[in-house]
Amino acid sequence: MIVENNACRAPRVYLETYGCQMNIADSQMVTAILQQAGYATTSDANEADIILLNTCAIREHAEDRVLGRLSDLARLKDARPRRKLGLLGCMAQHNRASLLKKAPWLDVVAGPDSYRRLPELLAGVAGDPTVDVRLDRAETYSDISPAYDSGVRAYVTVMRGCDKFCAFCVVPYVRGRERSVPLPAILREVERLAERGTKEIVLLGQTVNAYRYNQVGFGQLLRMVAAVDGITRIRFTSPHPSDMTADVIEAMAQEPKVQPYLHLPVQSGSDRILAAMGRGYTTEAYLRLVERLRSAIPNLALSTDIIVGFHGEEESDFAATLDLMRRVGYDSAFMFKYSVREHTRAFKLGDTVSNEEKSRRLAEVIALQESLSLERNRALIGREFPVLVEGPARRGGGMMVGKTPQFKTALFPASPSINIGDTVNVRIASATAHSLLSTVP
Ligand code: SF4
Repeated sequence: MIVENNACRAPRVYLETYGCQMNIADSQMVTAILQQAGYATTSDANEADIILLNTCAIREHAEDRVLGRLSDLARLKDARPRRKLGLLGCMAQHNRASLLKKAPWLDVVAGPDSYRRLPELLAGVAGDPTVDVRLDRAETYSDISPAYDSGVRAYVTVMRGCDKFCAFCVVPYVRGRERSVPLPAILREVERLAERGTKEIVLLGQTVNAYRYNQVGFGQLLRMVAAVDGITRIRFTSPHPSDMTADVIEAMAQEPKVQPYLHLPVQSGSDRILAAMGRGYTTEAYLRLVERLRSAIPNLALSTDIIVGFHGEEESDFAATLDLMRRVGYDSAFMFKYSVREHTRAFKLGDTVSNEEKSRRLAEVIALQESLSLERNRALIGREFPVLVEGPARRGGGMMVGKTPQFKTALFPASPSINIGDTVNVRIASATAHSLLSTVP
């Protein structure tokens, strides 16, 4: 056990996570690494000896939020100077040069490939900041079993990094090159999760369907995970459209445990902008893929990512994005204003669309998506779906919540015979753009 201030108690770590699902999974892994090294965890920053923020660098806005939060937390450090403050993740990697100037109270700065060394870094001399942002082409943390939350669903990282280098994206620079977690480690982890009662596995990777371990590709990985007893549902995120090969579509279509839901980032509906972004597909190829997916997988729900206001986006390009959204009829979408990021290929191009114009375009795509989501959800009224029960609904009122196979949120009346982790059939009674109000027939 680590002894601090001669007190015989484990130092307590408070960890706050920003950004995507990959970061949430990384935080669970960081927690496991620190627990193994003798640290305890706390959900209260006030009682922590070590405060860590696991951060995101995808958008400027996310970085500003973290810097604001850091200066709040610096006050806690003032109150107890031996308390350590650390910054982890993509922002640590992205802003390594300027971070210590902007946040001089930081004790530790560690990038996504440095978590194994965190106990060492945290043990560094007080007042002497330690920075470790080396990228490691081989690091997959495959020997570490993350400290998963209790819950019906667990996120299992199967690959790290990205080789696509889309012009707007910092991921290849902050998370390094693509590498897959060895297959035996993934299967071991899924079996462990099944033993502790996890029902649903979400396979994670920046371009998850680029997975490859020896001769095993992503389609085969899906089938092997599906063969694990006790796991009833499998999802994955985020695939890249260019890696959506026939074997992945076949595995989705043929393996009942793989759920009929796909997050398929498109980013723009304009071929000119897609080429400038370096996405590697045209709208025609994307729409053909959607057609193949829909004919292979009945009842497939689709979501996407859309960026508005990328460098050079004209009104006609934006109109093409709205048109593509209508043609696909997405069930949901994550929509963002383009944010110029240092180190990316598009950085030197700068912004050509004003912030006001980006805001207008964003409001328009959001309004369109709301109406598409509502239309798609209303079409489900009267139909029945198996729902994996997650727990009581946040809004209370004696309701429970769970997800349909299409990853739609269904609310239904609680009953003593329905338990968390059960799969119950519900009938959709009414719908909003974001949820389905249901009855249990
Ligand atoms: S595929 Fe493109 S957008 Fe996605 S993580 Fe890789 S570089 Fe970024």
